[in-house]
Amino acid sequence: MIAVTRRYLPVPVLLASMMIAGCLPWAGVVDRGDTGSLGTTSRGILLDGDHLAARGEHFRFYRARDRRYGIRELTGLVQRVSETLGREFPGTVLLLGDLSGQGGGFISEHHSHRSGRDVDLAFFVTSPSGKAIHGWPLMRFDRFGAGLREEKSCRFDAEKNWMVVEALIADEESRVQWIFVSHGLKALLLEWALNHERDIEIIRRAASILHQPGDSASHDDHFHVRIYCPDGAAGARCKNLGPVWPWVEFRATQASPLREMSDKDLLALALD
Ligand SMILES: [Zn+2]
Repeated sequence: MIAVTRRYLPVPVLLASMMIAGCLPWAGVVDRGDTGSLGTTSRGILLDGDHLAARGEHFRFYRARDRRYGIRELTGLVQRVSETLGREFPGTVLLLGDLSGQGGGFISEHHSHRSGRDVDLAFFVTSPSGKAIHGWPLMRFDRFGAGLREEKSCRFDAEKNWMVVEALIADEESRVQWIFVSHGLKALLLEWALNHERDIEIIRRAASILHQPGDSASHDDHFHVRIYCPDGAAGARCKNLGPVWPWVEFRATQASPLREMSDKDLLALALD
């Protein structure tokens, strides 16, 4: 089932009129023909992004608001991961949080999520006896995988949550840079994978990609997934920050007529 609809906004017309009106701080940064992810995930925008449907066969969003825009690589990744989960565990639905807003830029509650390369995913949850509990997004778990909601105990589902991590990392079309999660839950996930003899190369990569960021909340209630910029011209004005893992390859970017992002450009893209 194809759940992506592509919005063909008359972007050049829209941008030109807004620039003339002087209402875009980044007027002068965007070139004619720019599309996709521009700038970084925290100083950037998203032009002509893919728009995910509110629900697909194996996923749905846990909030009603429409922050469902991303680059094609991200919307495709989300769908492929949800399909893998649905295949492994029939009836399973992956709960999604925010991607980016239409056009990207600042959205409340997030420092990043501005350029179509970030998505939040809810954890899978079970009862203490191991029975799946559906529809409890944003449950917080301690380092032992224990959670509490309305006086009811629940558990971090290490098996299904590992399968999410594995599907993200094994995906060959999109390259995951980070999966932000707390230290304690990272340890639980790696322990589960080792004990169940999952692919050792995926486990090795997960040890780097799973990460508790030092400059934001500990991510003990959801995964935050970030992918790298796309290859070639589509990524010409997209800027990666942070590590490039040794197993990640970028195809040589062909000489592009598009300007690279300067620090001044990035500043202009910081819309808040
Ligand atoms: Zn996030």
